[in-house]
Amino acid sequence: MTHDAPILIVGAGQAGATAAAALRSYGHAGRIVMIGNERPLPYERPPLSKAVLSDAAMDERIGIHPVGFHAERSIELWLGTEVTAIDASRSVAQCSDGRSLAFRRCLLATGGKARRLPGLPEGTPRVHVVRTLADAQALREAMAQHAAVTVLGAGFLGLEIASTACALGLAVTVLESADRVLPRAVPPSFSAWLGQRVRDSGIDLRLGVRCASVDAHADGIAIALADGGRLDAALLVVAIGLVPEVALARASGLELHPANGGIRIDAQGRTSAPHIFAAGDCTSQFQPLLGEEIRLESWQSANEQARIAAAAMLGVAAEGAATPWFWTDQFGCNVQMLGMPAAGIAYHLRGQQASGDPAPKFLQIGLDAEGRLRHAIAVNAGGDLRQLRALIDQGVPCDAARLCDASTPLRQGVRDTLAAASTPSLT
Ligand SMILES: Cc1cc2nc3c(=O)[nH]c(=O)nc-3n(C[C@H](O)[C@H](O)[C@H](O)COP(=O)(O)OP(=O)(O)OC[C@H]3O[C@@H](n4cnc5c(N)ncnc54)[C@H](O)[C@@H]3O)c2cc1C
Repeated sequence: MTHDAPILIVGAGQAGATAAAALRSYGHAGRIVMIGNERPLPYERPPLSKAVLSDAAMDERIGIHPVGFHAERSIELWLGTEVTAIDASRSVAQCSDGRSLAFRRCLLATGGKARRLPGLPEGTPRVHVVRTLADAQALREAMAQHAAVTVLGAGFLGLEIASTACALGLAVTVLESADRVLPRAVPPSFSAWLGQRVRDSGIDLRLGVRCASVDAHADGIAIALADGGRLDAALLVVAIGLVPEVALARASGLELHPANGGIRIDAQGRTSAPHIFAAGDCTSQFQPLLGEEIRLESWQSANEQARIAAAAMLGVAAEGAATPWFWTDQFGCNVQMLGMPAAGIAYHLRGQQASGDPAPKFLQIGLDAEGRLRHAIAVNAGGDLRQLRALIDQGVPCDAARLCDASTPLRQGVRDTLAAASTPSLT
């Protein structure tokens, strides 16, 4: 490896594209090569389950950066090219087209693959997943040809797809093995409210339903349920999670988390090999709010990890990661979340969380046993959520009644809370 060997970025998705841009903005003037196995320029995935499914014009509007961005910054893009192996000790990558590249530093930003049902291989007719633009285009075409769709999984992705399909006029069935929607991400009270909203949209939402096997035949899909029932579907979308793409990391001997399978990284994005970094959905990282290591699959986390890893690759100081934030758009609601759900959080309501409200607007404010804000969920109230950021960042004790008093502006409640926390107690 020569001293002027490039920084290699494997994966031209959210984290890869953000890292490449960050390297230049931090002043790196040397060669950057970003290798991605998809053909399009780096694009945003969040619209794939939303606007892209209903509007083909969106395909051209989801670029992470404008056309020409990479050329202007001399970021070399090798698209449609897979990195097939990395020799960590020699710092050399091998590509599917026979090229090899010696690098100085490498960022693995390989994302993940949609989890598939056992026995239903890729390419099974009428069975879809949504991870790539090509996946979304295929589902869009299929939904234009059929009047009904069944979605397996009532997580964020499954519900977003169900919401879009419903808005397109398809008859939608959603099957979820847990007894509530978004079982891992929100408290039961929120699941109940959202589940009702899903049903009010006309969707056949079936909870506690486990799929035993799926048989795809020429005329449709036969879904055998674990309770012995059977369901026929014209189209099936499998939205049951993500498998981190860690094949390169594993083969090159990098440490993976034994339970969640992600590439273990430190707070700067460094893997177990000091010159190899990782960012995005493929990683496993300690999350201070939870006190444990997790895989966080989110747009913000991919961007934050990429920015921080880019700085660390150059030895530049960078601000630490922002508090986790996530959004989803579905069933006429923009839902945003700040912080992390965890056991022992009590949720308090600000606003009205009534079912059937055509324009709901409320906050669920999650406080831990010491009254510290740990997780907040905002429905059509993103501005309010932003006000709460200082409370979560500073870990101050909060008074639920003060924050939930709708007769006082939230800004005032936050200000009073911060003031109370900085005033020494006389007792
Ligand atoms: C449909 C959908 C909707 C979403 N909606 C939201 C949302 O509303 N809110 C939110 O916060 N998050 C959302 N997300 C999550 C967010 O988009 C991801 O967390 C983010 O894209 C992760 O970025 P990444 O760079 O880690 O992975 P990706 O963006 O998946 O990029 C990884 C890239 O690496 C490529 N690659 C893998 N291995 C190799 C290799 N060996 N050689 C070359 N290239 C390789 C992959 O093909 C891919 O192009 C959504 C995701 C999806 C799929």
